[in-house]
Amino acid sequence: MIIPFVNLKKQSRLEEKTILKAVKQTLKSSNFILGDSNINLEKKISHFKKSKYCALLNSGTDALTLGLHVLGIKRGDEVITCSNSFIASVASIVHLGAKPIFVDVKDDQNINPNLIEAKITKKTKAIMPVHLTGRVCDMRAVIKIARKYKLKVIEDAAQSFGSKFNGKMAGTFGDIGCISLHPLKNFNGVGDGGFILTNSLSYYKRICSLRNHGIRDRNFVDEFGYVSRYDTLKTNILLTRLKNIKNIISKRRNNAKLYFKYIDKTNVYIPPETTNEFNTYHTFVIQIKKREQLIKFLRKKNISTSIHYPIPIHLQKAFKRIYNSKIHLPKTIKQSKEILSLPINEHLTKKEIKFISESINKFYKT
Ligand SMILES: *Cc1c(COP(=O)(O)O)cnc(C)c1O
Repeated sequence: MIIPFVNLKKQSRLEEKTILKAVKQTLKSSNFILGDSNINLEKKISHFKKSKYCALLNSGTDALTLGLHVLGIKRGDEVITCSNSFIASVASIVHLGAKPIFVDVKDDQNINPNLIEAKITKKTKAIMPVHLTGRVCDMRAVIKIARKYKLKVIEDAAQSFGSKFNGKMAGTFGDIGCISLHPLKNFNGVGDGGFILTNSLSYYKRICSLRNHGIRDRNFVDEFGYVSRYDTLKTNILLTRLKNIKNIISKRRNNAKLYFKYIDKTNVYIPPETTNEFNTYHTFVIQIKKREQLIKFLRKKNISTSIHYPIPIHLQKAFKRIYNSKIHLPKTIKQSKEILSLPINEHLTKKEIKFISESINKFYKT
């Protein structure tokens, strides 16, 4: 028996009946893009996330791109973010012609607010904190700096649907929050998807227009837009999945609790969940030495693991072909060599988590 890192096949099996029902419902309406279901899901998400507005888009990456677009980010601007993210965070900045400026992270892999001010220049327009692993950044500190320097804040909350900091939902701290509905995320669709959250009616209206070619009132186009609408079929399926999201979050949090309990911390660093945080554990990441050997050891026991992400973005060829400056991010580099993501999906049993933990303990004892 293999312990899989993710278990989408099991999810598909469990939900087959409700998904087929959603397919039939979509065919019956034959309304395939935007429409009433879309508005309904957007309302339900805004309610859940305690945000005024939600606009569904075709991916989390589009949410970042359209978000930066309406914040006015353009050629020559600088946007402060982290290098230890999924490539999309930085790609969205680059595509708008702006320059990503990297800030190093804390032990918990999230942006270190103490290092932000030193990176602010006349060209800085926005900060894009990434809530990596499902843990929300220290947003109190980030917002304070943004206010002081009049910078926009766009949260890459792709991995943190339902996560909170001081009781406030990820994606609702800044001007715009961006969340992914990719099949591998906790709140997942059956294909690409994402959405933005905002309390600003004008940002919301502009994003709704931009996602549909920039069209306003059928025949009028105020600015050139994108094609980033969310399909009704995927919407109808997500409407059924939204009912289960609290359950998924609580299972993942419980799995994390078991890891904290069973893993011997002598040779394993796990960033603790502070009392400010409510982490939904998109990934459960430990920091360790002898990573390659441990991966092999666990693989022999049929335990799958993964690394998010082994190569920081500033070391990717895509980045280096544009910018060849030397960038000093010691903690980011150190973590890229020591991080390992353990299975945390909601289908795992207590027995499996105990087995994974005990296998890790055994590896470092021998
Ligand atoms: C998944 C992810 C994205 C991109 O979301 P997509 O829906 O795949 O486009 C962006 N940033 C981070 C941190 C992510 O994990």
